[in-house]
Amino acid sequence: MRSSERRVRRFSPYLLLVFALAAGGRAAAQEKGEDLCGDCHSTGKVPHTHDPALLGLEKDAIYCSFFMDADSDALGMDWVVCPNCRTPSVQARARSEFQLEYQQRQRWLEERRAEVDQHAGEKVLHIKTRHFVIAWDIPKVKADRRVYDMHEAMHLYARRMEDLYREIQQVHGIGETAMHTGVYHLYLFETQKVAERVGAYAVNGAGGGATKSLIGPNSAHVRWWRKEDLPDDEHFHQALAHSVSHLIHNDIDQFDEWLAVRYGWAYEGLAHYIEIRLFGPPITWCHRETGGFEHWKGKDWEANVKKAVLAGTQPAFQDVITKASDVLTPMEHQFSWSYIDYLMWLDPKKMPRLLGLMKGPQLPVRDALQQAYGLTIGQFVDGWEEFVRTEYTSKPTKGPRPRPPRSGG
Ligand SMILES: [Zn+2]
Ligand SMILES: [Zn+2]
Ligand SMILES: [Zn+2]
Repeated sequence: MRSSERRVRRFSPYLLLVFALAAGGRAAAQEKGEDLCGDCHSTGKVPHTHDPALLGLEKDAIYCSFFMDADSDALGMDWVVCPNCRTPSVQARARSEFQLEYQQRQRWLEERRAEVDQHAGEKVLHIKTRHFVIAWDIPKVKADRRVYDMHEAMHLYARRMEDLYREIQQVHGIGETAMHTGVYHLYLFETQKVAERVGAYAVNGAGGGATKSLIGPNSAHVRWWRKEDLPDDEHFHQALAHSVSHLIHNDIDQFDEWLAVRYGWAYEGLAHYIEIRLFGPPITWCHRETGGFEHWKGKDWEANVKKAVLAGTQPAFQDVITKASDVLTPMEHQFSWSYIDYLMWLDPKKMPRLLGLMKGPQLPVRDALQQAYGLTIGQFVDGWEEFVRTEYTSKPTKGPRPRPPRSGG
């Protein structure tokens, strides 16, 4: 048995070549004596059409449970087996290909339902895009002066999350190989009741109130839409971007431990950097179940930090960097953001290495800064103060505040 297996393996490339030569020149791979099929041009496959209104939404999705549910014949595939095929051998090959793909889709749906719907106690929608697997049960979202129904809203948010992922990669000049996993699970619900049922099993990590996150090889974020904190779509989007940026930043480069405990300033600073860059004044932080978000000296963080530096009342960098993210004061949140803002201005392409040194070997900040940016603590502090004095404005500003890096790149 074993020797014949070896023989087959040894000869198979040769046999394949002979077969390929024999088949070469024929338009389709039908067997000798078989007719050609006009229906499928002897491919065994015919197009399977979908509601054109849905196709626009589905183009960015790998799987969508809504789309699959509406199509029991093919679960969203764009072809089916040629039904009256005159070329049985190609039809048979197409059939096994179809079955394989169909079963894969079916399995994905079943897994999502077992993982989420069973705990939620209701049927929710699911989507898989390149980097996100999202469970969604928010019935409608008002955005861009229109109302998105549940299915459209899920696609809207899936698209926004992919945009966020791309934005973070672009700003650091990194690609897929820089990411530890590149896959993030989001569980987004309308009610606390459902989020808690699902959150209790899916996530044992940090968070409180309306959110929970698990950071690491199986990154996950569970959130319900607490309207008193996040009255509209813009707020919900910004708060979600803050939380999801934690998953993505922790996924850059190596990962043994997340940033939140030993490098609270970098953990929260990066998330606020995303908020200010893409939205405007921050509205959210993690870990604070009691005592909601508050601004130290008002919404304009850039002006607040600048005034403090000009007055010489800024906190000591060496103190702020010793704190875990859950004990940073509202004032320290603003300075943590500013430290990150400085490093991103200096060179955003060095940040991935800094993060890797913090999450992998977990170097002290002084060593990580030295290795990634070539800065001593003293040089960092002097450079940061100079940056704040010259680059920050004391005038109040509105809306997103992207800051191009020093090199202009
Ligand atoms: Zn869909
Ligand atoms: Zn056919
Ligand atoms: Zn946070």
